[in-house]
Amino acid sequence: MIVMKFGGSSVADAERLRHVASIVKTQLERKPVLVLSAMGDTTDHLLEAGDEAFRNGKVSVDHIEKHHLTVIKNLKLPAQKDIKSMLEELRSLLSGISLIKELTPRTRDYLVSFGERLSVRIAAAYFASQGINAKAFDAWELGFISDSNFGSAELIKESWELIPAKILPLIKAGVLPVVTGFIARDAQGNITTLGRGGSDLSATMIAAACKAEEAQVWKDVDGILTADPRIVKKAKPVETVTYEEAAEMAYFGAQVLHPRAMQPCMKTGTTVLVKNSYNIEAPGTRIIPSFEKRSVPVRAITSRRNVTLVDIVSTRMLGQYGFLAEVFSTFARYNISVDMVATSEVSISITLDAAYDLAGLKKDLARIASVDIKTGKAIVTIIGNVRRSSEILARAFRTCQLIGVPVQMISQGASKVNISFIVDDSEAAEVVQALHLDFFDTLNADKKVVGQSRRAPGSKS
Ligand code: ASP
Ligand code: MG
Repeated sequence: MIVMKFGGSSVADAERLRHVASIVKTQLERKPVLVLSAMGDTTDHLLEAGDEAFRNGKVSVDHIEKHHLTVIKNLKLPAQKDIKSMLEELRSLLSGISLIKELTPRTRDYLVSFGERLSVRIAAAYFASQGINAKAFDAWELGFISDSNFGSAELIKESWELIPAKILPLIKAGVLPVVTGFIARDAQGNITTLGRGGSDLSATMIAAACKAEEAQVWKDVDGILTADPRIVKKAKPVETVTYEEAAEMAYFGAQVLHPRAMQPCMKTGTTVLVKNSYNIEAPGTRIIPSFEKRSVPVRAITSRRNVTLVDIVSTRMLGQYGFLAEVFSTFARYNISVDMVATSEVSISITLDAAYDLAGLKKDLARIASVDIKTGKAIVTIIGNVRRSSEILARAFRTCQLIGVPVQMISQGASKVNISFIVDDSEAAEVVQALHLDFFDTLNADKKVVGQSRRAPGSKS
């Protein structure tokens, strides 16, 4: 058994769905389970429609309705009753929101769930018309039960047993399940979502819980790339990465996979394969537990913009204990999640998302420290072999020096696969480009920093 997940752009319209069917057909004997996202930008359109109803009292489903009905027509499917009634239900929900003028996280999850629920029904109907024994399922019918943390729910432990108990008999019976990604249901029966991009997690969860051969994640890029192609034109796909590296990349700005998507397969060692549905021939990226032999120092370079840097210097005496504890408990009190940290005896630098309001935090911290908040920063992250960190750091700093960009803070992740540093937001793209040139340009790739040229005999770079 394998799991094949197709994202929004891979199932955007009739033509893309025909293409998906052709890909699936080539792998039927591997007994696939399909996990689908909402078609194209439907999730965004649903959120917009929700806001429109909530703020302006306007109910606008025409666009979403027209798109889905057009796909059905273009696929030459007969009118789909369940789609009609689902669109009716969506319309009533939006009228409800417009009347009560209330849009809670719970209602928002119910609202966006229509995207995936519509898409699996249309896709399954089309596959069936192509002679495939496909059947649409809402994830909760197949064991996806979560907590009630709307907008970013976590699956409960029992899902690990519930999912295979539901799916394996279907596979045995020769059914091709077409399952909604992204959504689940809590113990009370409320629809929940696993966070934006959560279909990846749905797919890896099925693969891990059912002990599938592999999870294939079909995207619109050639796999995980060495850098964001919008910043670095010559970015190229990475052949293999470890789960750890893939997770770090997701957290630090590479928008390829959901950050939590690696967790289930990490537990079971299930391979995740990232493929391009627009370019089937491309080998894609294979995500595996670990490497036997590492050859290159750096796997990828990512950046995350719009970051705030907080410098906190203790106003107490040197050697005072409990300073860090107090700083972190203050952040926790304000529910502020911290990304990077660097400390010395009396000072600590922390980065966070620019979206937080820091007024209260600053006031509280002022009792024990002087606080300096600097906005407009970016985190540049180098994902690589930290056993070669001295070499990576030497080359990275020299590159920054060459282009005249000062490095403002640095930290080496505990996961031992990332080295991150802070530069000004306005300089981030240039830094990523220069680092990419140094680490990935074929002329440079073999180059070693002077004095760092010791290599295991016979090893390739
Ligand atoms: N449709 C959802 C989103 O756009 C989930 C997904 O695509 O993975 O975030
Ligand atoms: Mg999407």
